[in-house]
Amino acid sequence: MPFLGFGQESAIPEPIVCHADKHDAFFQVLAEDSEKTRRTVTSSIDVSYTDFPDVAETAFEKAVSIWETILISNQPIRINAKWENIGGGTTLAYSGATRIYRNIDNAPYRDVWYVCPLAEAIAGKDLNNGDFDINVTLNSNTNWSYSTDGTTFSGKFDLVTVALHEIAHGLGFSSSMKLINNESEGQWGQSSFPYIFDTFVQTEEGESLVDKTNYQNPSEDLKEEMVSNALIFNVTNNKYLGRTPEIYSPETYKEGASLSHVDFRDANASTDTPNAYSIMSPSILAALAIHKPSGEVLTILNEIGWPVNNLETFVVLAEEPEPKILVFPNPVQKKLAIALPIELRSENTEVTILDSRGKVLFEVQKDTVLEPTFYISLTDYASGIHFLTVNSEKGQFTKKLVKR
Ligand SMILES: [Zn+2]
Repeated sequence: MPFLGFGQESAIPEPIVCHADKHDAFFQVLAEDSEKTRRTVTSSIDVSYTDFPDVAETAFEKAVSIWETILISNQPIRINAKWENIGGGTTLAYSGATRIYRNIDNAPYRDVWYVCPLAEAIAGKDLNNGDFDINVTLNSNTNWSYSTDGTTFSGKFDLVTVALHEIAHGLGFSSSMKLINNESEGQWGQSSFPYIFDTFVQTEEGESLVDKTNYQNPSEDLKEEMVSNALIFNVTNNKYLGRTPEIYSPETYKEGASLSHVDFRDANASTDTPNAYSIMSPSILAALAIHKPSGEVLTILNEIGWPVNNLETFVVLAEEPEPKILVFPNPVQKKLAIALPIELRSENTEVTILDSRGKVLFEVQKDTVLEPTFYISLTDYASGIHFLTVNSEKGQFTKKLVKR
């Protein structure tokens, strides 16, 4: 049974501060041509701008339109974007979700915080009465490039790239881990519950930092790991990645930057090589335009619970001839959410899960099929490739599932 949100709680998270690196990258990754890929808009992001110059607003909207073809949510994502003087230092921006929620309807995990837009996507409903979900404040003092076509300029910071980055923090690309007590101890969580992102952070030996059998919270041992320069994000869907995402955990702790960004520690991945550039790097270089989040960034968002339109298992194309059957997460470990389009929700629709030999593992109850989104537990089934088949008056449709 899905968890029905008894005891839903919310809190206000701390924003993440992001910095500039004045070196020029002269590197670009352009946005995909939406005409060619026929990628459809799968979410709606509404932005309220305060004091933005028109050129800055146009560039920010470019970033918004990129995320709208990647995220899948039936809840509008509302961003409060401000243009403010944050001083002449290296601060580019700060950002984060307006609120975090735990024990929402349909939450895949209990007692774990989800940022507002993700919580709404999972719950399938508005949780904050239409209030803003994400705050983004850009520094009006930054030497911005407003180019929307990826042209790079020496000494200038690409606003589209930074907007993509800041929105990602608001989407849940953020950790609660920090140093406390004069930086003598490491701590995670808010009201002692971890962020969903935190639950994937682990040592190279595979020890989860939020597993209290490994580390007391707070503790000096936790701090040691948080400044070990050796933390990784435990992705299980490694198909699209050549590497395990490394979490920024420098030996000198950097408040706001440590733990909430990706890092490139591989000897062959210095800043001289293109794969060192990610939209989620701890500091954004000048003359760097990345208008397409990498598979690594999308995989991390997918792992924390976002249905992501860009991963191969989850591509929704415009004018798709077949009804869009959404399954999430995929790969799945425990609980699978299935959303059938309205034309398939009928008394006569049969939904089954088959293993790779065609043996029926699971038959979904008839009345369940009528619900917009329903959940089934796959905990008891073997890992491997399974198939979800939907037999309906509109025809038979099959989706590949990876059970891990
Ligand atoms: Zn950042």
